[in-house]
Amino acid sequence: MRYVQIDTQSDPLSDTNPTTEKQKKLSHLLAEELQGMGITDAHMDEWGYVYATIPSNTVKQVPVICFCSHIDTAPDASGAGVKPILHKAYDGKPITLPDDNTQVLTPEMHPYLKKLAGHDIITASGTTLLGADDKAGVAEIMDAAHYFMTHPEVKHGAIKLLFTPDEEVGRGTAKLDLQNLGAQFGYTLDGGAAGSLEDETFSADGVQLIIHGVITHPGDAKDKLVNALKIGGEVLALLPKSSLSPETTEKREGFVHPTRIEGIAERCTIEFIIRDFVTAGLKKKEELLQSLVDLVMERHPKATYEFKITEQYRNMKEVLDGHPNVVHYARIAIERRAAKPMLRAENNADVHAGFF
Ligand SMILES: [Zn+2]
Repeated sequence: MRYVQIDTQSDPLSDTNPTTEKQKKLSHLLAEELQGMGITDAHMDEWGYVYATIPSNTVKQVPVICFCSHIDTAPDASGAGVKPILHKAYDGKPITLPDDNTQVLTPEMHPYLKKLAGHDIITASGTTLLGADDKAGVAEIMDAAHYFMTHPEVKHGAIKLLFTPDEEVGRGTAKLDLQNLGAQFGYTLDGGAAGSLEDETFSADGVQLIIHGVITHPGDAKDKLVNALKIGGEVLALLPKSSLSPETTEKREGFVHPTRIEGIAERCTIEFIIRDFVTAGLKKKEELLQSLVDLVMERHPKATYEFKITEQYRNMKEVLDGHPNVVHYARIAIERRAAKPMLRAENNADVHAGFF
């Protein structure tokens, strides 16, 4: 309830690190609170990352692990003036948010709410994000740190804690110092249903298509002018609709998704995101897109184009498969809490990671 009241919204248009200075306010507070628990190396660095170590209290040789969460909230809705509301022993009925009564949380829209009847839950008031993504993760890690520091009888290896800015705008690891972190592996704790566990994501590329038309004065344009905007429109019209599109696919199905278009008659730029759970599948989709572009460009021999592929990120499963214990231990931990691990592979999972 305290952490969500600190505005930590990140900004995709900023080129500073962190993207917004205000995120440091929460980072600073977390470092201070960890210090207050007796975690003496807790500190915030110049980029707003918080690093801390709960020292090992066992003589056993165990790996150094990390728990991580992000402190920023998404740019989609206001992060300022958040008024969290605690619903004690939630009655399972629809919740009308008081500051905007058109905002109603219903179990039909959010089936997970059904499972929360009888629990205490926290919502926003209707005009802002709550920011539970990922201040729920922050609070869990802070609480776990407090527990370990006050229960020395619970044995564990060294535990590294990490809080990062700017995850929602795709730059959460921009200034991360893995060497300094010094963990062998780690777990991100983030918003989601109890027991959910994700060990794979898409592999992701971006494609930028720039179409160069031929410009002349419209009064003297016959058989000369080639309009790049119209060519861009033809490319978009040729894209698959009932397949390879996020709006018509689910789960492990990849896609070719135009995210942005801009231009003038002589030059049109279209940005795409390409997603596939199998990295090799990205290439196939890029070849398909290229072939559609070629098809259109053949109709306009005087126009030219550039087709630039940028690597964005890769499915973590490709690395995790070489270290099966990382996921295995997480499953055991969830099962010990009498929950059934729910492995998810959702084709919209990276929306969360901020790749818009
Ligand atoms: Zn998150």
